[in-house]
Amino acid sequence: MTEFSLALNEDQIQIRDWVHEFAKDVVRPNAEEWDEREEFPWPIVEEAAKIGLYSIDFMSNAIMNDSTGLTLPIALEELFWGDAGIGLAIFGSGLAAAGIMGNATPEQIIEWVPQCYGTADKVQLGAFCVSEPDAGSDVSSLRTRAVYDEAKDEWVLNGTKAWITNGGIADIHVVVAAVDPELKGRGQASFVVPPNTPGLSMGQKYKKHGIRASHTAEVVLDDVRVPGHCLLGGKEKLDEKLARAREALAKPAKESSGKQPAMATFEATRPAVGAQAIGIARAAYEYALQYAGERHAFGKPIIKNQSIAFMLADMATEIDAARLLVWRAAWLARNGTYVNAEGSMSKLKAGRVAVWATERAIQILGGYGYVREYPVERFHRDAKIYDIFEGTEQIQQLVIARAISGLRIE
Ligand SMILES: Cc1cc2nc3c(=O)[nH]c(=O)nc-3n(C[C@H](O)[C@H](O)[C@H](O)COP(=O)(O)OP(=O)(O)OC[C@H]3O[C@@H](n4cnc5c(N)ncnc54)[C@H](O)[C@@H]3O)c2cc1C
Repeated sequence: MTEFSLALNEDQIQIRDWVHEFAKDVVRPNAEEWDEREEFPWPIVEEAAKIGLYSIDFMSNAIMNDSTGLTLPIALEELFWGDAGIGLAIFGSGLAAAGIMGNATPEQIIEWVPQCYGTADKVQLGAFCVSEPDAGSDVSSLRTRAVYDEAKDEWVLNGTKAWITNGGIADIHVVVAAVDPELKGRGQASFVVPPNTPGLSMGQKYKKHGIRASHTAEVVLDDVRVPGHCLLGGKEKLDEKLARAREALAKPAKESSGKQPAMATFEATRPAVGAQAIGIARAAYEYALQYAGERHAFGKPIIKNQSIAFMLADMATEIDAARLLVWRAAWLARNGTYVNAEGSMSKLKAGRVAVWATERAIQILGGYGYVREYPVERFHRDAKIYDIFEGTEQIQQLVIARAISGLRIE
């Protein structure tokens, strides 16, 4: 086990500075344009691929070769400090990759994860498709069905997925579907839908409040047929899991939520999502700090007023507190196991801090904070998603409450 330490090693310092340069020189100057266009920023993602930031190599290096667990959160904070919409365009495929890694066999990982990224010359995207119009927080109620056609050794997928990052424009869609709906979450499985599979199409593309450079759309699955080997983890493992779940269903109810494929992925990725939120909060804080030193009112810089300076002091403190929770969770995820839902704690805190700190930044800028000429109103719009996706604020509270109480809090 690697000791938990706040001192970054040389590799981490190098990666942090490298991502920061890209965020400062490439991402930030383009942030406003792509936010206004509300389109996927292909040229920026391609540039990220050219320098190796958008790549399977970077992801495996940041995750596998890092025994501290901190490298990925550090890199994400820097990138999202540049811009969250573009940041998510660059890191959105990571969720699909995590969905594969969490459930697949080693052969499936080798086959599908690189295809979520493609190459520097041919960039590809991944999408992780769980949420549905009637099942967002309640992932145990998915209606998308997966039916096995034994004669052809194929799975047939039908349903509609909602709010999917990279949905319909991705090359690899990882779809979570109900194999046995009666078993709720324990009757679900994850499937890879390979590029250009007939029957998969993009439904509506959403117009969003924030992170507008990131593409979010419905994914429609209409008799989508995928080969048997696209079932992540394999048929044998699924049959065993279903048999165990059916046996448990026949017994008197015990207080167990059961392991769901989607939930396992989300719990593992929560510190990384928290780090993204911290990047936005830090951007807002730094902007407000500088502005408060330059803006004069009543003959002096506004920072000379305690009410402004104390707001900044609180922002700095809260951002550091959130980062510490994220780093602890990232380290625990790599080196041990969560005890009291520390992944959820980190995401809950970081999301709240991002929303609060970006709102305070608007307050410090006054009228200039409220208009699009200055970036803080965009920071605030971008921050709000961190209370919603990958488990809402209330769902994080639910996970934490259950962990600390050992009870099935409703
Ligand atoms: C921009 C964006 C990108 C997204 N990307 C993806 C993606 O790539 N893949 C994917 O699968 N999904 C994605 N999502 C979906 C996202 O994960 C869901 O929107 C989220 O989980 C909330 O689900 P919901 O919208 O159905 O809200 P609901 O579940 O309907 O919740 C509505 C409200 O009720 C509260 N609530 C619900 N249940 C409880 C409860 N038991 N206790 C207390 N409060 C409760 C919630 O906290 C919330 O405040 C994305 C969403 C957005 C907006």
